[in-house]
Amino acid sequence: MNLRNILIFAICFLTFSCKKTVLKPQTQYVLGTICNINLFESGTSDLYQELFSELNAIDDKFNVNKEYSEISVVNQNAGSGIATNVSQEVYELVRRSKEYAMLTENSFNPLLGAIIKLWGIGSDFQKVPEEKEIQEAIKHCDPNSIVLSQTDGMYFIEITDKNASLDLGAIVKGFAADKLVKLLKEKKVSRAILDLGGNIYVFGDKSKSDQNSLWQVGIKNPIMPQANPIEIVSLKAGSVVTSGNYERFFIQDGIVYHHIFDGKTGRPAQSGLASVTVISENSELCDVLATALFVAGTTENFIKRFDEQTIKIVFVDLDGTVQILSI
Ligand code: ADP
Ligand code: MG
Repeated sequence: MNLRNILIFAICFLTFSCKKTVLKPQTQYVLGTICNINLFESGTSDLYQELFSELNAIDDKFNVNKEYSEISVVNQNAGSGIATNVSQEVYELVRRSKEYAMLTENSFNPLLGAIIKLWGIGSDFQKVPEEKEIQEAIKHCDPNSIVLSQTDGMYFIEITDKNASLDLGAIVKGFAADKLVKLLKEKKVSRAILDLGGNIYVFGDKSKSDQNSLWQVGIKNPIMPQANPIEIVSLKAGSVVTSGNYERFFIQDGIVYHHIFDGKTGRPAQSGLASVTVISENSELCDVLATALFVAGTTENFIKRFDEQTIKIVFVDLDGTVQILSI
């Protein structure tokens, strides 16, 4: 082999060995749901691992079913006079959750633990509780019982009512999607699809050759979830989040009892809607509003308070009628 051939060989070898293997989309069960990530051409094993470790770290902090999560410890200390030292991340998400509760007039309520546990929807103990149990639980869902404080750069959360507990199930997937998107930007990933249990984020340019091409995201038909999408939304990039009555429920005496509660009645929300989908660049806001609007219905007024963002909402009522609202 002459010098020229050796050089060509070396260049080919280096190019080949430096090109990292691109994996197919990856799936893991985390945040209590199936999470699927597609990083397309950026999909190296290292990057997938980093994103899934981030999701697992979020789960470790926020999951109320993990005994030692920060949120569980805050809940265990409820009513004891102990303010629990938490990470800044947990503090900030609870602080924003309390704010969202105020802005949505408690349609989104992070302190619904008493009601959620009483019904146990999705667990082995799900049941329709007695009316007096419901009335008792309602008394322990006031977000004002969440007391936040900071001293010497340390963050504390205290719940002053011993029968109250935090449950951030209606916001954490949105929060997690935004956190992953931040990572994708830092890593200069060109495009990705995050699907955190139906909480979707389409990131970057769908097509390299056509910068104007849009992502298409289907919205499940809540009346027939296995059928074709009831609506398709097109967007440049951003999040599409749905709250629906078909996701987690049980049926007793012909009545559907689902997992999104109206804190005012202590029962599954009955606003006449089968699903609400919210589309915006901020997945956390989408998650909060999807839940809040599912509870409050189409005639609510609080959505005006969120008009600094471009938001699109797709309501589907119990008859399958679609109504679209853009803000
Ligand atoms: P999903 O988690 O199925 O995508 P949501 O985002 O609407 O749907 O969150 C529902 C979960 O949030 C419930 O399982 C429960 O843990 C909690 N939750 C139920 N009702 C409310 C509510 N009104 N406000 C805040 N959290 C709620
Ligand atoms: Mg939600």
